[in-house]
Amino acid sequence: MLLECNALLKDKDAFYEEFISKHTTVIELHHDSRVQKILDYYAQIFEILTAPFQSETLIQKFEVLTEYKVSMEIPFAVMMNEVSWIKSKIVFNNIQANKNSHIIKLLNLFETLENSIARIYLLHYLKRLTSKNNIRRNSLSDLSEKNLIVHYEAHLIWLSNLAEHIKTKDKSKFPELNHTLCAFGKWLHGDGKKTIQNNSKYKNLYAIHEKLHYYAQHIYDMIEDEEYKILITYLEKCEIISLDIGTELFLLDQIMINKRIVKDSLTGSLNRHALADLFESQYELALATNSRFTLAMCDLDNFKDVNDTYGHLAGDQVLQLFVKIVKKHIRSSDMIIRYGGEEFVIMLPTIDKKKGFFILDNIREEFAQTELLYHEQIIKTTVSMGMMDIEPEKLFNKGFTDEYLMIVDKNLYMAKEDGRNRIKVY
Ligand code: GH3
Ligand code: MG
Ligand code: MG
Repeated sequence: MLLECNALLKDKDAFYEEFISKHTTVIELHHDSRVQKILDYYAQIFEILTAPFQSETLIQKFEVLTEYKVSMEIPFAVMMNEVSWIKSKIVFNNIQANKNSHIIKLLNLFETLENSIARIYLLHYLKRLTSKNNIRRNSLSDLSEKNLIVHYEAHLIWLSNLAEHIKTKDKSKFPELNHTLCAFGKWLHGDGKKTIQNNSKYKNLYAIHEKLHYYAQHIYDMIEDEEYKILITYLEKCEIISLDIGTELFLLDQIMINKRIVKDSLTGSLNRHALADLFESQYELALATNSRFTLAMCDLDNFKDVNDTYGHLAGDQVLQLFVKIVKKHIRSSDMIIRYGGEEFVIMLPTIDKKKGFFILDNIREEFAQTELLYHEQIIKTTVSMGMMDIEPEKLFNKGFTDEYLMIVDKNLYMAKEDGRNRIKVY
């Protein structure tokens, strides 16, 4: 039963101003009429808090506000942070005014309030998760070659089932909770062990998958308790781990693909013919695992001079040296592709711009510092690069590999213009 509450706030205006100044960072993101709407909601809430009120009225007000915040994609943690700020201020005010008898009632009220906000967030989260999973599965279905990725698909289906039955609270229909018995688990504990030859990668995958099921078990155990705040946190964990599983499989898959692709005979880098396919699957998988990837175009500087001064065979050795240095800095799941004579494309799955720049700049630096001894002559040369990171959008049209390559190529050109031996980031 909901209790009547006394006014919890005295000086509404000061309180309101402090609240707005604390939380404007969120509000100012939406600098249009919606700002006013949000401010109106808060004005109404603070109005309620300054007069005697039914707790139900306050909760309803917050529910309307929450629906609105969800529609504006304000994160759950941000919304909760605001509410707990209000709660702690009010508790403090009441302690100062010696109204200790209010406190328990007040804490109960906020407990109910926070839980009803969490329930709204959870319902939206479940709906979004299902549709995001559908997009992820669609991008996987476009892959020409799946290899290990089919097992990630199996876990996306499992996750969608979990979301569905959290919504219906039907415990009998929950997906398999035992991590050795779900479709992915069966594979991982059986053939997967043989397929994934790298033991530490296998152990990591085993551990994160086990953890995912551990959280799902907690969800199952507490589904009837209506503790929405905790439910949403566990579910967020499940989603993040599922994406991690996808990423791990995708990197393992790439190692296998890299081994199989025909190599350039001079440098051992991947052959250009594979580029469009590699890029396209990279794109789909990045979309399905919600990650970015780095793309770079590299061109050795003044390479013609190397050939002219030391001869073509010396030039060949410089090309080999460059690829050797690149391979030292990248993972076995990354790709270096010989694009043309002394031009190379580098693709780094799951690596964003910041990390990508760090890796590429180390390559650039080491290559510039390295001396090649050729028939008692020292050859030193440098490399320029254009780079970007790619965050896939839903729409993918074939042939746009070239569009991305054009962007990094343009940046490479700018790096050359700027004096070479440098990286231009898009
Ligand atoms: P920039 O800094 O502007 O890139 O100058 P650059 O001299 O590197 O550019 P340019 O495109 O004029 O020259 C590239 C040279 O790379 C010309 C070509 O003979 C040489 N080249 C292409 N493939 C190979 C190869 O397989 N081996 C050797 N040794 N040289 C190659
Ligand atoms: Mg060139
Ligand atoms: Mg060049």
